[in-house]
Amino acid sequence: MKKKSSKIRLWPIFPIITERILSRKIGRYSLLLHQNSETILKSNLTHPVFEIVARIAAETNTQAFVIGGFVRDLLLQRDNKKDIDIMVIGSGIDFAQQVASLLPGEVPVRVFKNFGTAMLSYYDWQIEFVGARRESYRQNSRKPIVEDGTLTDDQNRRDFTINAMAIELTPDHFGQLIDPFNGQEDLKRKVIRTPLDPDITFSDDPLRMMRAIRFATQLNFTIQPDTLNSISKNADRIRIVSTERITDELNLIIQAPKPSTGFLLLDTTGLLQLIFPLFCELKGTATIEGKGHKDNFYHTLEVLDNVAAQSDNLWLRWAALLHDIAKPQTKKYIPGTGWTFHAHEFKGAKMVPQIFRALKLPLNEKMKYVEKLVLLHLRPIVLAEEEVTDSAVRRLLFEAGDDIDDLMTLCNADITSKNQMKVKRYLENFAIVRTKLREIEEKDRLRNWQPPISGEIIMQTFGLKPSKPVGMIKDAITEAILEGIIPNQYEEAYQFMLREGEKLGLKKIN
Ligand code: ATP
Ligand code: MG
Repeated sequence: MKKKSSKIRLWPIFPIITERILSRKIGRYSLLLHQNSETILKSNLTHPVFEIVARIAAETNTQAFVIGGFVRDLLLQRDNKKDIDIMVIGSGIDFAQQVASLLPGEVPVRVFKNFGTAMLSYYDWQIEFVGARRESYRQNSRKPIVEDGTLTDDQNRRDFTINAMAIELTPDHFGQLIDPFNGQEDLKRKVIRTPLDPDITFSDDPLRMMRAIRFATQLNFTIQPDTLNSISKNADRIRIVSTERITDELNLIIQAPKPSTGFLLLDTTGLLQLIFPLFCELKGTATIEGKGHKDNFYHTLEVLDNVAAQSDNLWLRWAALLHDIAKPQTKKYIPGTGWTFHAHEFKGAKMVPQIFRALKLPLNEKMKYVEKLVLLHLRPIVLAEEEVTDSAVRRLLFEAGDDIDDLMTLCNADITSKNQMKVKRYLENFAIVRTKLREIEEKDRLRNWQPPISGEIIMQTFGLKPSKPVGMIKDAITEAILEGIIPNQYEEAYQFMLREGEKLGLKKIN
């Protein structure tokens, strides 16, 4: 029996006009257009899992679809992150097990009984299987009550029209696109829109508000006005979402090509104030005696975009976000001098662990790295303003270690002045700093440097146990080398150690 009649009901009014495969440039991507989409999609569904899904669907008389991000990215001709969501009418777990048994080799299936989903890893692809479902939500939780549902139920519960499209994989209809909310039109117009009334979609699961802004930022799309208004209206419901999930989305925004887009949307909708109030404190400017200062909120976003244009490193981008975070707390007007933000780099570095803890970011070496860059972010600029001495460069190299290049990227990005003369001067001085850094690094090799005299040697020489004088002598040696008082060599450092020991009344015993 053919299932054609039910199919036609699902099929939107769909003009099959031409055999040609059309593609159109949409911002960063070229969009696969839907004329005769069956042919287009078939030729793109080349992943071996689709064929196996089709076989199992036929054998078990089950309807199966690929749905969500994979379909969206296929139509956008955008690189997919290598995850495929398969939705079946029935049990996703059973279906996954049957697919796994037909894939070559041992393919482990991870089953998440609570969610009714199963996941296969096949080479570097993650393939998730889920049964079509219908969801209903309660006021105070983003966890829905889940029941088995139809394809339509399942598409209705999706977050955006562009994420609700499905392609059927059942052999009779293999390659057919089921697009009940005209997601293709929204892809063409570069619009993020909820499939249902946005107030329902967002109130049900407020994480979707973050996702709307995240997709708009990643894809360079706009959020349709009703959808955007609804985010402002429902912003407060973000409180029922866990920090981890919010931060995951925030990180995706930060990793986008132009992260400021997302931050401005978060700000205008009121979400930013709720999820990252400290960052909002950077906003605003003040004028006293006719002297103003720049708005550090917009300045920071500009620095973030500048860094993003240079590097994919998420943590360098976080350093950009936080480099001036202590400016509001350190801001002071000094008559005759103007606005100062004295020691904001020190205070800012101290704030990094607090912020990482609050946002549930990792409290590991990534955090240390951000702390370090915030602490040092002014140093190359100070260097560039003054005479670039060898010892100042040596000290910077010693403190920044392997992160010196990232620090220089951050500092370059920090030059956002509109005054072209000023920018030119900074850039020229920076070039000098870079040259000097290279020269001194070649000569002294100070990255990841350890002074030639260890604490062990100091203890042995003077017969000391681990104690304060050991640290004092070691620091004095480090200082002397960085200042260029003695060369970075064992013998000179040893003699220097003896003199320092003498000053402290210590006697050489070995
Ligand atoms: P990405 O490229 O980031 O993986 P994606 O669209 O695949 O984007 P996923 O988080 O992997 O996003 O989710 C897969 C699909 O599941 C989405 O395309 C969407 O249809 C649906 N989805 C995910 N999260 C939600 C949600 N919170 N509410 C509604 N639908 C969602
Ligand atoms: Mg995905």
